[in-house]
Formats: sequence, C-alpha cells, structure tokens
Amino acid sequence: MTDQFDVVIIGAGPAGYHAAIRAAQLGLNTACIDKWVNKQGKPAYGGTCLNVGCIPSKTLLDASHKFAEANHGFADIGINIKGIEMDVPKMMARKDEVVANLTKGVAGLLKANGVAVFDGAAKLNAGRNIEITLHDGSVKSITGEHVVIATGSVPVSIPPCQLAEDIIVDSSGALDFQTVPERLGVVGAGVIGLELGSVWQRLGSEVVVLEALEEFLPMADKQVAKEAAKQFKKQGLDIRLGARLTGSELKGQKVEVSYSDAEGDKTEIFDRLIVAIGRRPYTENLLAADCGVDLDERGFIYVNDLCVTNAPGVYAIGDVVRGPMLAHKGMEEGVMVVERIAGKKPLVNYDCVPAVIYTHPEIAWVGKTEQELKAAGDVFNIGLFPMVASGRAMAANDTVGFIKLIADAETDRILGIHMVGAHVSELISEAVIAMEFASSAEDLALTMFAHPTLSEALHEAALAVSGHAIHIATRKRKKK
Ligand code: FAD
Ligand code: AMP
Repeated sequence: MTDQFDVVIIGAGPAGYHAAIRAAQLGLNTACIDKWVNKQGKPAYGGTCLNVGCIPSKTLLDASHKFAEANHGFADIGINIKGIEMDVPKMMARKDEVVANLTKGVAGLLKANGVAVFDGAAKLNAGRNIEITLHDGSVKSITGEHVVIATGSVPVSIPPCQLAEDIIVDSSGALDFQTVPERLGVVGAGVIGLELGSVWQRLGSEVVVLEALEEFLPMADKQVAKEAAKQFKKQGLDIRLGARLTGSELKGQKVEVSYSDAEGDKTEIFDRLIVAIGRRPYTENLLAADCGVDLDERGFIYVNDLCVTNAPGVYAIGDVVRGPMLAHKGMEEGVMVVERIAGKKPLVNYDCVPAVIYTHPEIAWVGKTEQELKAAGDVFNIGLFPMVASGRAMAANDTVGFIKLIADAETDRILGIHMVGAHVSELISEAVIAMEFASSAEDLALTMFAHPTLSEALHEAALAVSGHAIHIATRKRKKK
C-alpha cells in the first residue's frame, strides 16, 4: 500500500525537522523519514547537529572552558581551588545525556505536531515515490505531493589517513574519547578542528594542528584571524600552516603521521589523531537513476536560490546543497521551502548568514570581510572597538579581542561585522538583526545599549565608524 502525503521530508537533521514541524504547523499532511540510530541502536532525530555536531561539541567546549578557567583564571579573581580534576567519563556521560534529551525532544515535537515519522533509509524514485527500508528490514512505499531532501553531510576521509578504532578518528570519534590523550594531532585547522583541538588542549593534551593551507582561517576577516591565531598560540595550540598530511601509520597504541611543509617531509607521533578536513554532501543510495534530481560537480544536490531541484516538486535543503554547512542555514531553508509550498513567499537572505567558531576567544561574523570589499572595489569606513576598553569585559577578566564594523562610505549601510572575543557567538545576533534590517552604522550608534554589557562594544564600534567612540580615541578612516 502507498501512503500519500502533502510533504515528505527525507532527513530529520536541523534542516529536515524544522521543515517538518513548520509544514505540519501550516496544516500540511507531513511525513519525515530518518535513518539515524544512536549508540543504543535506537532511532535518534536531530541528525549530525544534535547527535555528533553542534550540541555535543558545545557541551564539551563549555565543560572544558570551565575547567581551563578554574585552572588558570580563577586565581586572578581571588578564587583559590586546589586539586582540580577532570572526570572525563562523567563529562562524556553528561554530554550523552544532553544529546539524548534533545533528540527525544525533537521526537516529541514531531509527534506533537502530527508528523508521521518513519525510522529507516529512504530512496527517491521517479514520480516522488519514496521507498523506505525500515529498521526492521521491511519496506514501505510512500508518495509526496512535494518532497524535501535534507540528508545532510558526512566527514571527508582521505587515503593517507584512514580511520582506526579509537586512535585515528573523525569528529564523531573525537567527541567520545574517555581519556585525555597526552599528544593529540588534528588534521585541518577549520572550524571543527579548532573547536575539538581546543577541547582536548584545555583538558591537558599537547595539541598539534596540521593545516595544508598557508593562511589561517582564510574565510574570516584577516584582522580577526590574526588576533585569533595569536590567542590560540598563547593557549598552547601548536598550529602548523602549510603542512599537508601525506600518510599515517599505527605504531602500537600510537600513530605516526607524515606531512610535508616548506622545509620538506616530516613525521610526528601522536596518541590520537583527529581528522577534520571538511565534510561532503551525503546522497548515498538516495537517488534512483530516474528520480530527476541532479548533483553538481562537487556532489551537492543542484538547487536554485529557492532550494528547488531539477525534479518537479522536489526540493533540497541544508548541508546537502550549496552554501555554508551550518545548522541555522539549513533550518531557515527548511522553513522557507515548506512555507512556499503552503503559498507564502519567504526568502532566505544568504547575505546574512552568521558564522561562529566556538573557541576561546570565540570568533563570529556576518556580511563581507574587509578583504572581500577591497577586492570588489567597495569604498567603506571601519569602526573598531577593542574589548579591553569594555567595562564589562574588564569586570569579567576577559578582555581579549575586538568588534569591527564595516560600513559603506557613501550610504553608511553596514556591510560586515566581525568579532573576536568572549561570548561573541551571542553578540553576533545583534549584528545579524542590524544587517537584516539594512541598518546604517549611525542607526546602531543612535540605539541605546544596556550598561555594562559586552554588547556596548558593538555600539562603540558603530560610533567609531564616524570617529566618536566614547571609550577609545578613534579617528575616522580616510575615504578611499
Ligand atoms: P544532518 O544534520 O547531517 O542530518 C541529515 C539527516 O538525514 C541525518 O539524521 C541522516 O541520518 C538522515 N539521512 C541521510 N540520508 C538518509 C536517507 N537516505 N534516508 C533517511 N534518512 C537519511 N553547525 C552550526 O551551525 N553550528 C555549530 O556549532 C556546528 N558545530 C558542528 C560541530 C561538529 C563536530 C560537526 C560535525 C558539525 C557542526 N555543525 C555546526 C554543522 C551542522 O551539524 C550541520 O550543518 C547540520 O547538522 C546540517 O543539517 P542537515 O539537516 O542539513 O543535515
Ligand atoms: P573545514 O572545511 O572548515 O571543515 O576545514 C577543513 C580544513 O582541513 C581546511 O582548512 C583544509 O585546508 C584542511 N585540510 C584538508 N586536507 C588536508 C590535508 N591533507 N592536510 C592538512 N590539512 C588539510
């Protein structure tokens, strides 16, 4: 028997489950299929983000940051604690509990909204027919008036660095270590490599990060990347740029890594190695040859700005399509697609996607970098406010970093906001709201910010664009 739905969503990661819940809210008869099973062999919704991505990594980042602060920062503010110990299995158990609570929460939300959930692997056939191989091995066929593909992404693996139980691991394995490795290698100084490297460095590992590119964080504003590199070095993260991994070999309980840099071929021995060289779109066994959905040259499902594929009535969202592989980008695409199916006309503003790296200091930005604007020949003014001049940052004994605001020289419209410092993952949303509302630097400057808050640094950066930040001597940049 074939069940007929208004919308069938394949994948219950952040993109898929947002789409499913919103579709059901809009009164559409909605099904959602997901094949994820957790360590207990039970279905778990929320995809990469909840199970092995955003949530577990942030749980470990928060725990390890508290540990590092207690070890290195508390004495400065008059708190003396002796004999601080990290109970890694307990930290991991708590992380698993957070993940379990959230994945169960998503199951509850899907149910409460009346979404029909199928636990199994979906294959899309012609005519928007979907064949589901359920976890018990039985096969079910359903059809959607509309189909939304949200099958996400998986870690990239490379031949010189094949995963090996507990010793050479990808990001998922790095979220499950039960002991602190003495020497930890990380391949890739991208967002995931830096976050996971930070977790274990804070807990006591000697961490070496090997990055093939010569430039550190090339996607970030150069000034921000420079400040972040300085702070990571101070913390003891040994980031080696221009270091391309060429091989790895298990040596007992250790791994010998070969890499080459400008000086030639080198080796290093590590207790554990995390491979964090990027993620690729996941479409394995998903698309029947005649389903009509095309992939692009990099293996992403080909879509237009509205997430419409080449197959009529089929959409794709999240990590499996072009654009930044970020949970919130997929969530917004999911909501947009089903609202359009329901006859509404929303758009995703791809110019306002915030990017965050949850290290310490945190790094966050929205909009264009100074380098991108220069390359495009734009003329702009910059307002920069250092956290060291923020009263609240001083009070909190955490004054690293700055906020940099870039505004069009002629119209004063904000073109980009770049932050490095404590809690900027929260502050960046203020920047996103300002840019979403097409704010000028002056609009922000004329807005009242609560005192004393870190947010005031954004206010001051906006004031600094026209040279009148209160708490620092700024000069207006010359128009180029
Ligand atoms: P996914 O979350 O990958 O979900 C896809 C789902 O589809 C999975 O549940 C999968 O089982 C299911 N599926 C796949 N194929 C089929 C099929 N054929 N049939 C049925 N089901 C199928 N992003 C952020 O924004 N912030 C962060 O802090 C952040 N931290 C991260 C940390 C780590 C360590 C990692 C690995 C990623 C992180 N990300 C972060 C990225 C984020 O997790 C992804 O961008 C996000 O999960 C993508 O959502 P998605 O719904 O597109 O896909
Ligand atoms: P991201 O794409 O943000 O997940 O980051 C992955 C990082 O891994 C990028 O900065 C890549 O340059 C880096 N990378 C990819 N392959 C290698 C390799 N063989 N050796 C070292 N770094 C690599």
